[in-house]
Amino acid sequence: MNLVLMGLPGAGKGTQAERIVDKYGIPHISTGDMFRAAIKEGTDLGLKAKSFMDAGNLVPDNVTIGIVNERLGKSDCQNGFLLDGFPRTVAQAEALEKILSEMNRSINYVLNIDVDKEQLMERLTGRRICKQCGATYHVMFNPPENEGVCDKCGGELYQREDDNEKTVKTRLEVNIEQSKPLLAFYAEKGYLRNIDGNQDIKKVFNDIDQLFGGLR
Ligand SMILES: [Zn+2]
Repeated sequence: MNLVLMGLPGAGKGTQAERIVDKYGIPHISTGDMFRAAIKEGTDLGLKAKSFMDAGNLVPDNVTIGIVNERLGKSDCQNGFLLDGFPRTVAQAEALEKILSEMNRSINYVLNIDVDKEQLMERLTGRRICKQCGATYHVMFNPPENEGVCDKCGGELYQREDDNEKTVKTRLEVNIEQSKPLLAFYAEKGYLRNIDGNQDIKKVFNDIDQLFGGLR
């Protein structure tokens, strides 16, 4: 099963990725992990990527695509893979099509975990962190026993700058704009499946699992 996972920040991609990997035994391939592994192995492309990253620059597409190509050729990808964080652009998506067609493979599904913007705002702005011990809470989903106070150490809870409403809203809007062309590309190809991510975690996975029913 060859999958691409998409979703905005806060959509719960990580959680669903874990469940898919557990149940279907395919590797979860995130861009960050892929770079780290290539650098650790010291491949030519890995070293190239490292030189860009060390200089504080974005890794150019040709290097990223080369690393994806190497990664998908490894034996653990024989039965499929779950790509997460790649592709980010239509150019990368086109490159991925080419890589896969050279392997006589193709994408089965692009899963887009779709959550309403209001709900994402709620999820992303509700995080609170303990000043003393760093424990994290969520005002709705994982609240402390006493508001504003850490259960573990009694420390004061605060909201990170990154989690405030204005920052989160901007981050979401940028992400929505960036993902639009990619979603359109995959819809056109017939790969795109929108999964209702407003439901609880179990139901979201259930929907994904049902989609896969015919593929096992
Ligand atoms: Zn604490």
